[in-house]
Amino acid sequence: MSVRKITEYPEAVLAQAGKPVTEFDEELEKLCADMFETMYEAEGVGLAAPQIGLNLRLFVIDCEDIKLVAANPEIIETSGEQSSQEGCLSVGKVPAVVTRAEKVRLKAQNEKGEWFEREAEGYAARAFLHETDHCDGKLFIDHLPKMRRDMVVKRFQKEKRWK
Ligand SMILES: [Zn+2]
Repeated sequence: MSVRKITEYPEAVLAQAGKPVTEFDEELEKLCADMFETMYEAEGVGLAAPQIGLNLRLFVIDCEDIKLVAANPEIIETSGEQSSQEGCLSVGKVPAVVTRAEKVRLKAQNEKGEWFEREAEGYAARAFLHETDHCDGKLFIDHLPKMRRDMVVKRFQKEKRWK
């Protein structure tokens, strides 16, 4: 296992829709192990393949009591609404309030290629939506009004210069 370099805004791969995962082999298992390790190292609760520079529809999550690998993820049901702070490892964890569904149902394949469905609420639902967005080339800041989006980007760039 190894920790991969996290890609950061505005790298192009973060804005590209991922390609479907088609090979469910040992290589994919190794990739998922690396993604978990990279996520834990960065103290995140979710990480998608574009965040380590790979144009693939794949994410890992360890959030509340949900730990899973999701290949070719789709959100097939949503209900309710929640607004709270969200951040992203690719945008320096600068927080902003995003409105999302309160409850979602995810459909995806595990690392063996088996399809499954999983429901989540609250924070975990937010993580499912955030990571599925990454697979579609979308960042959480894309949900913000332009002024707030610019503020998050400015703060991120400023903090990056200080590092
Ligand atoms: Zn993110």
